[in-house]
Amino acid sequence: MTELARFRNVVDGKAVESVTNRWLASINPFDAEPWAEVPHCGVDDAEAAVEAAHRAFVRGPWATMSATARGKLLRRLGDLITRDAEKLAAIETRDNGKLHAEMVGQCRYIPEWFHYFGGLADKVEGGVLPMDKADLFSYTKREPLGVVVAITPWNSPLLLLTWKLAPALAAGNTVVIKPSEHTSCSTLALMDLVREAGFPDGVINTVTGYGHEIGPTLTRHPMVAKIAFTGGDATGAAIYAGAAKGLKHVTLELGGKSPNIVFADANLDDAVKGAISGIFAASGQTCIAGARLLVQRSVHDEVSARVVDFARAARLGDPMEATTQVGPVTTLAQREKILDYMDVARDEGARCLLGGGTPDDPGLGKGWFVEPTIFGGVSNSMRIAREEVFGPILSIIPFEDEDEAIEIANDTLYGLASGVWTSSIRRALTMADRIRAGTVWVNTYRAVSFMAPFGGYKMSGIGRESGQAAIDEYLQTKCVWINLAEGIANPFVLR
Ligand code: NAD
Repeated sequence: MTELARFRNVVDGKAVESVTNRWLASINPFDAEPWAEVPHCGVDDAEAAVEAAHRAFVRGPWATMSATARGKLLRRLGDLITRDAEKLAAIETRDNGKLHAEMVGQCRYIPEWFHYFGGLADKVEGGVLPMDKADLFSYTKREPLGVVVAITPWNSPLLLLTWKLAPALAAGNTVVIKPSEHTSCSTLALMDLVREAGFPDGVINTVTGYGHEIGPTLTRHPMVAKIAFTGGDATGAAIYAGAAKGLKHVTLELGGKSPNIVFADANLDDAVKGAISGIFAASGQTCIAGARLLVQRSVHDEVSARVVDFARAARLGDPMEATTQVGPVTTLAQREKILDYMDVARDEGARCLLGGGTPDDPGLGKGWFVEPTIFGGVSNSMRIAREEVFGPILSIIPFEDEDEAIEIANDTLYGLASGVWTSSIRRALTMADRIRAGTVWVNTYRAVSFMAPFGGYKMSGIGRESGQAAIDEYLQTKCVWINLAEGIANPFVLR
């Protein structure tokens, strides 16, 4: 048996295992075999990581470092990620089964966040207040919050970490990272680059293990000022409730059931491709998945048939191969959940137009594959249209006109993303106004950028990541008052 690669956590600048010396296997979803191990941390490890981050925040060189110097460190880290992008991408693919081509693209794009927020670090300004009172001088400062706990899911570990890490560090916070128990390896590999970039000890720490075991210690710790979380809505709500007790700041990036809306006046070739990439990229395991395809009735049958034909031709296979279009899903439990939803959809009366199970292809070995699946005859009241599946299942729902499209699109607990396909600028802008979601894409789907605010309406989250305002999520304002008069006139009267 080949020996498993071992990744260690970093706490206070030192590589550490768990205090109990337990290990957790990382399993490659393509062959269902363990390929690496990470420390299986417990409460003591989590506490040590928070304490290290707190020491670095109050006492270390980080606390007195200029914002300009912080920015340089961030940009250096970005450059190192560019250098090692292929290596990091290969680790992510082994951990989560997503296409290597996509992970390479992501890892090459991640440095942009470190450059952008590195540049922003020394542009955070306070100001002098005009002041309505005589003899008082007053100014504001923007200051970091303290220790930030960054908790990430398994679908895009480094990208979603970067969305938190870059603004948190630019603002001067220190960080404890808790990656998903299924996909910790790329985060731990990143820590080699953090050291190489020259970040002081304790500024960035990691702790790996199960969320239910160490999560509450991290998110309720009195030394923690903020939790930046991406993951499921139930976990996010539990974290929010815990954070409220300690009055901690939070940003929550949660789930979605995003509508991808095709009007009859759209370029249907593009709309079909947008529908496919909207749901089947990453085997449907993205929070922004366009899981509900709303199609105007006059083109409903044509679009449905074309989407089915397109998806039928998808090449399933080894995610490391450039020719593969659909890889496995990340965990066995996730595959079971997706297959259960197929039964739910059938039981509710949806018509399975494509797929509907696991692929019958011995070439795919023991990999955790699910067939790209499309259901027609779906009504928006069915569970398949209401609950996040996080898998390659598309539900097609017909609509008559703009009003009905909006009614269906907004009839969801979520509000993360949406797509509109139309050739009418009036319709595009009207729909963009009326859709209740944090992102609206018109004649495209899935675009994200370091400069574009991303986040959810309703149950899809709180706060925004990326864009200039994201740094505000990691800052607080202090107001300083200075008396310029000689002496205090009457100490019993407030002025
Ligand atoms: P999850 O909620 O199960 O886990 C996310 C992270 O939270 C993991 O690191 C996990 O260990 C940790 N965790 C679990 N219980 C915890 C607790 N009690 N306290 C603290 N941390 C805890 O989610 P997942 O299955 O890893 O990811 C899939 C979900 O993530 C989907 O619902 C998806 O929509 C969402 N997601 C959202 C976005 C977004 O930006 N909005 C992006 C990607 C994924």
